[in-house]
Amino acid sequence: MQKTHTSQKEVIKSEKILTGDRATGPLHLGHFVGSLQQRVKLQHQYTQTILVADMQGLTDNGHNPQKVSSNILNVVADYLAVGIDPLKTTICLQSKIPALAELTMYYANLVSIARLQRNPTVKNEIASKSFGQSIPAGFLTYPISQAADITGFNATLIPVGEDQLPMLEQTNEIVRRLNHIAQADVLIECKPLLSKVSRLPSVDGKNKMSKSLGNTIMLGSNEKEISKAVKSMYTDPMHLNINDPGQIDGNVVFTYLDAFHEDDTYIKDLKAHYKAGGLGDGTTKKILESCLQDVLKPIRERRSLYMNDKAQLIKILKQGSEKSQEEANQVLQKVKSAFGLNLF
Ligand code: ATP
Ligand code: MG
Repeated sequence: MQKTHTSQKEVIKSEKILTGDRATGPLHLGHFVGSLQQRVKLQHQYTQTILVADMQGLTDNGHNPQKVSSNILNVVADYLAVGIDPLKTTICLQSKIPALAELTMYYANLVSIARLQRNPTVKNEIASKSFGQSIPAGFLTYPISQAADITGFNATLIPVGEDQLPMLEQTNEIVRRLNHIAQADVLIECKPLLSKVSRLPSVDGKNKMSKSLGNTIMLGSNEKEISKAVKSMYTDPMHLNINDPGQIDGNVVFTYLDAFHEDDTYIKDLKAHYKAGGLGDGTTKKILESCLQDVLKPIRERRSLYMNDKAQLIKILKQGSEKSQEEANQVLQKVKSAFGLNLF
């Protein structure tokens, strides 16, 4: 009998995954729970590409490019340390795939400045970076370059943190605009894949943990750094005595326990105890510290081995970048044709 439809399983199997990280610093716990853990699982089922976004890193570091160049291999070492396998996942470097920059130029004609200024993530980032009147054009337009990264690999599923949702929305607007111009499905829309913890706060609870804000617990942090970070964590300022009832909402220690502790029932009981009174912040912090030390120790050790073999990291990145060129070039040709630029 002739097959007339694709099963749900087959549709899911055909997803293509693209994610990436700016090369603006070593990766941190926010990356781990927000995206990296998903990527490690997904690489066994799907075609996955991970982009080290060095050009995007430059959009707010043009005055200090060394910050980006010196972090490229840090990011690759972090990938390998958490279990990204270069035989299963293609790891590539954005600046080595020129088609992505070309796509960005074409897509820039489909997006207004006002739309970029309305992008909530860009708006927040501009405010926190105090650019004043000197917002780099590259920074304002980085969502366009992200659309090029995603569509350049025909990606359909993007494991990201919450801050990236406006970027995916903007990407899909570009896709629809281009398809409308071409009167054909030249590009594919993408969907986000959010993890259980899609926005890990910094230890002070004020912002998202973020490389550029310098408020991170890095995957390569040593025992002392982890201990210091946990000790300084924001809890419940009204929980002055052990016997006082404590507040869970906004208490960063519990946010992290939810994100990193394996035993949900134990954490549930711990929360009940804290709420009722009788459980001190020193104790909850000790439990969290021991949990984070356990999570990060093996990652830190593997990371250090990878960082001692930079030639191997460069080889992985070079091979992945070469492999990625062809697909991005094909998408570029289709986009140029959609604009009628295919005379020869
Ligand atoms: P920068 O400050 O340079 O922007 P960053 O720490 O925000 O760096 P990115 O490279 O911008 O990290 O983000 C890479 C991926 O990690 C994105 O999918 C982003 O949503 C996710 N991510 C980053 N920080 C967090 C966080 N605190 N919680 C959850 N996901 C996060
Ligand atoms: Mg960011």
